[in-house]
Amino acid sequence: MSVLEKLSSQSAIALEEKYGAHNYHPLPVVLNRGEGAYMWDVEGKQYFDFLSAYSAVNQGHCHPRIVNAMIEQAKTLTLTSRAFHNDMLGRFEAYITSYFGYDKVLPMNTGAEAVETAIKICRKWAYEKKNIPEQQAKIIVCENNFHGRTTTIISFSNDPDARKNFGPYTPGFIKIPYDDVGALEKVLIEEEHIAGFLVEPIQGEAGVYVPTDGYLEKAKALCEQHNVLFIADEIQTGIARTGQILAVDHEGVKPDMLILGKAISGGVYPVSAVLANDQVMEVIKPGQHGSTFGGNPIAAAVAMEALQVVKDEELADNAHRLGTVFREKLGEYIKGSTIVNKVRGKGLLNAIVINDTDQSDTAWNICLKLKENGLLAKPTHGNIIRFAPPLVMTEEQLLECVSIITTTLKEFEV
Ligand code: PLP
Repeated sequence: MSVLEKLSSQSAIALEEKYGAHNYHPLPVVLNRGEGAYMWDVEGKQYFDFLSAYSAVNQGHCHPRIVNAMIEQAKTLTLTSRAFHNDMLGRFEAYITSYFGYDKVLPMNTGAEAVETAIKICRKWAYEKKNIPEQQAKIIVCENNFHGRTTTIISFSNDPDARKNFGPYTPGFIKIPYDDVGALEKVLIEEEHIAGFLVEPIQGEAGVYVPTDGYLEKAKALCEQHNVLFIADEIQTGIARTGQILAVDHEGVKPDMLILGKAISGGVYPVSAVLANDQVMEVIKPGQHGSTFGGNPIAAAVAMEALQVVKDEELADNAHRLGTVFREKLGEYIKGSTIVNKVRGKGLLNAIVINDTDQSDTAWNICLKLKENGLLAKPTHGNIIRFAPPLVMTEEQLLECVSIITTTLKEFEV
């Protein structure tokens, strides 16, 4: 079959079903075009995107400046590997470190790779700078975390689907409840050989759990007190999504290691990165970590443009402003609703909680109906639906989306 042959939604889904591993459960919609806050299916129906590829497309679909940066670089040089220097990597490194205020960056491709990178650096720092005995370093993580899908990362997940039958698991992680400063302090006091604390500033995949104000600031202070690295996974919350460039900025916290992915390329190309200051990053020497594609010229060109677009278009301010409107409007609706319990979130990372058990399929059915009504969103866990549109959305578009969402929810009220 020619790749240029036009496919119906049904036949595209049938091909995936037959030839692809069944490791996802997508909504039954087949998209072939995107622009700004919109996507279109192969039959030409238009939708508002309310997921943004899990917050990767913050700058909107096919942003012309980012796409152009990719095309121009692709015509010149695509990949050298790190066996040689190229004239884009250093520029990108200077740009991103100055953007986020760190001495050094280690570029990778996917989010999970960046998390793995941070774990490796943290352990090495612990042995070489903190003199933790060999093989003893431990990293504190939070319950209901989501940091990706590699063997080490799922080793400290508590999602049965992510873990079951993928063992044996990587040791060296201690799990504590999220948003619980007391639990963190207890572990830091009672346990030996702690190297780091890895945390999502908002737990996105778990269902957009926003911690209590001051949690991140207190956690960072405790880490400092115990000489433990505070590692923020901002893969989903970063790059203006929550109304600040980073979610930790809401509390004026500077992580010892910052993990970024997704929107640092505007969803145009897989780019991820770990940022840290010299006293941490200097533990990594040649041959100890890397990736053939990490820091390639296309990634460098795309990421610089994508990050600049976020600043030039003031996307953090827009996310803050529209997020406030969104929660206000949904909050008003919920007052008279039997089907929705709650709306929560920060900036344009929000979720509603459906008044049903987390085993029910109500949230899924609502998403199917939203799709029919022209808006694409997906349940996170069970009865929670995440709403995360591209940050380039206008207020007029957002109000239209609120109207689609509330009209759809009304169909489910009892
Ligand atoms: N960390 C967080 C907080 C995420 O939300 C995700 C993806 O959703 C990841 C890590 C993994 O990123 P990737 O899917 O690019 O490996």
